[in-house]
Amino acid sequence: MTGTPVVWSPTTLRHDVEQEVWVGVALPAVEVPSRVDAILAGVDGRPLVEAGPQDDTVLREVHDPDLLDFLATAAGRWERAGYADEVGQRRVVPYLFPTPALTDGMPARVPVRVHADAGRFGYDTCTLLGPGTWEAARAAVDCALVAAGMVADGRPTVYALCRPPGHHATRAGYGGSCYLNNAAVAAQALRSAGHRRVAVIDLDAHQGNGTAQIFYDRGDVTYASVHVDPAAGWFPHLYGYADETGAGTGEGATLNLPLPEGTGDEQWLQAVRRAVGWASESGASALVVSLGVDAAVDDPESPLAVTAGGYRAAGALAGSTGLPAVVVQEGGYHLPSLGGLVTAYLEGHEAGP
Ligand SMILES: [Zn+2]
Repeated sequence: MTGTPVVWSPTTLRHDVEQEVWVGVALPAVEVPSRVDAILAGVDGRPLVEAGPQDDTVLREVHDPDLLDFLATAAGRWERAGYADEVGQRRVVPYLFPTPALTDGMPARVPVRVHADAGRFGYDTCTLLGPGTWEAARAAVDCALVAAGMVADGRPTVYALCRPPGHHATRAGYGGSCYLNNAAVAAQALRSAGHRRVAVIDLDAHQGNGTAQIFYDRGDVTYASVHVDPAAGWFPHLYGYADETGAGTGEGATLNLPLPEGTGDEQWLQAVRRAVGWASESGASALVVSLGVDAAVDDPESPLAVTAGGYRAAGALAGSTGLPAVVVQEGGYHLPSLGGLVTAYLEGHEAGP
């Protein structure tokens, strides 16, 4: 078998929250386990690598230990507290958000009940947590770690079929259907393996605010993102503006390229070309591509109108750098076209320089 190796784990299928709560209404989840099957069917013919459990060293460099402890225990706390019997809710949904408006000037407190505690880490109500969520998110990190290890060992490009996605997970928070930041873990793992500078390129329709935050004050991992303009009212709402360029030693190491709603291939690829050029001129010796395919025209979450041909061309642009790359799955929710979009990107990337 030839082509980009595909790293996956069956454990990533165990996260199945069925719903997301948006403006107080429970809607059917779009980030579903069958996304994995759809992608596996699309990438058929490429070598499959099953990721086993990896150690926590890099994960703990990327995320706050309190977030990791919460995610690992929340589903069990929820079950034991009896919310399923009491109100029929089987998933962890944040209820109270300790924003500065509530906490400013007061002693630090930690709520006792898990429904009130969840808002210390979960920053939206859409990202539910249930039995299997932690195991799946941790397995997605394992996929990213195995892929980064293969690239560090000399494979030119490896695709990590991470699910749930990760780029909205911040250092100490989860949200936007993301729990652990797979792309940030891959970048940090490449740094630990000896790459002095790593460039993250984020192609998801939405800015990866988690990845941006984790590396905002660092110059050794650059972050470039092409996404729908948050000023047009899109997730992540607060971040992804062009004037966010990094801070401290990371000043100038963040590039946000927001695009208007409805942007198609031509304008999108112009921005991707700019992001890829900027990343390769940064002096990076390795890439992490956050491959969200929810910018595709058919995607139910898509504010943009990119085609499979657009994704193929984006892959060719990233591949043309000749840099070793870990391609990490982010969003993409239209099951009939999902596998084809991922494959189109990989075919473009595989063409190389
Ligand atoms: Zn997205």
